[in-house]
Amino acid sequence: MSAKLLEGGPIAEQIKSEIKAAIAELPEEQRPQLVAVMVGDNPGARSYAKMQRKACEEVDILYELKEFDESISEADLIGEMNQLNEDDGVNGIILQMPVPQHINARAVQAEIAPVKDVDGVNPANLGAVVMGRVEGAPCTAQAVVRLVEETGVDLYGAEVVVVGHSEIVGKPVALLLLDKFATTTVCHIGTSDAGMLEKHTTGADLLIVAVGVPGLIKGNMIKPGATVIDVGINRVKDPETGKSKMVGDVAFDEAVEVAGIITPVPGGVGPVTPAMLLQSTLHAAQSQR
Ligand code: NDP
Repeated sequence: MSAKLLEGGPIAEQIKSEIKAAIAELPEEQRPQLVAVMVGDNPGARSYAKMQRKACEEVDILYELKEFDESISEADLIGEMNQLNEDDGVNGIILQMPVPQHINARAVQAEIAPVKDVDGVNPANLGAVVMGRVEGAPCTAQAVVRLVEETGVDLYGAEVVVVGHSEIVGKPVALLLLDKFATTTVCHIGTSDAGMLEKHTTGADLLIVAVGVPGLIKGNMIKPGATVIDVGINRVKDPETGKSKMVGDVAFDEAVEVAGIITPVPGGVGPVTPAMLLQSTLHAAQSQR
């Protein structure tokens, strides 16, 4: 049996076309603006910023990348964040990761005004996730929830297993699905080290994996017919071509034979995450008016 592919591309396009239509209704002076703050010149952060700019342009959100020298102090960076908080023309603020070691990213993220925190990193927004508020959640967590909704799976009483307990994916996803009355289990490195990962994953009707270990979840760790959402993005060398390729945390070729529905990597969660950033920016602008 081959699982149905849950592709993120068409979902992202749908979200973007709705955002674009909503923005087209606004007077020019109310066009949302997203400001990304980048410290130093990290290639990953720069390529993410490029992707953000392209996504914003597609839906007519204004985008500015504010770059600071890597020598900027944490206090000065916080000062810059506060200026953006006070600027009425700025609706969304995102701190590009990583930042240099002398800067405590959490301390800076905590300074982003909750109403402008479009990446859901301020503790106030993460706290609101406990109350089921999906709009303030980190964009990847929102993307996972949106993909789950697209499947139409009945979450009430369903066995949901989330592998990975990071603050931007695993924890918020688990809380948001718990709020939908799923029976939610969170697995992490301790679960793996105790040799208990498979015991949990094989019982999951819905399995969400956000770890960063290529092929961690094998076919025999998946319940037949389960829905599998693979958040992982890993670069590995293709043994046949010797070239670098992107894979998820799930061994796709095995999993696709067992699961009922599965997201591919690339092309699953990946395209939906930036679409959720745009949606968060539009929500932020609407709530600030
Ligand atoms: P983190 O490194 O912050 O978290 C990984 C989590 O996995 C941690 O909870 C860690 O536990 C746990 N873990 C590590 N090894 C194992 C193991 N062998 N068994 C079980 N759990 C384990 O990563 P992120 O949450 O930020 O990202 C996870 C993956 O998702 C990465 O591949 C990342 O690139 C990708 N990603 C994809 C996005 C998208 O849009 N598609 C966006 C963001 C991330 P512990 O901390 O205790 O070690």
